[in-house]
Amino acid sequence: MATALYSFKVDDDGKVRIGHVFFGANEAGARKVLEEHAEICPKFGPAHRRGDTIELSEELEELPEANEESLKEFLDLEGEEDDADDPEED
Ligand SMILES: [Zn+2]
Repeated sequence: MATALYSFKVDDDGKVRIGHVFFGANEAGARKVLEEHAEICPKFGPAHRRGDTIELSEELEELPEANEESLKEFLDLEGEEDDADDPEED
């Protein structure tokens, strides 16, 4: 199933400042993208190899498309201005 794999780097002070999200047609595909990025990312790669990251995996109905609207939907940012004080949400 389509997968979004999140990896958050935990800094030395215990705070999270950087997060990545990797997409794949399945979890193995997303993990391959993660590993390929770890090879070339100077911040994330060393932290990933040290285990100083927190990983979360999410199954998706479908992968987001390469446009702002689809990515906003993926991030659940749709209509955030309108929904901020909407009592019917949640
Ligand atoms: Zn990176």
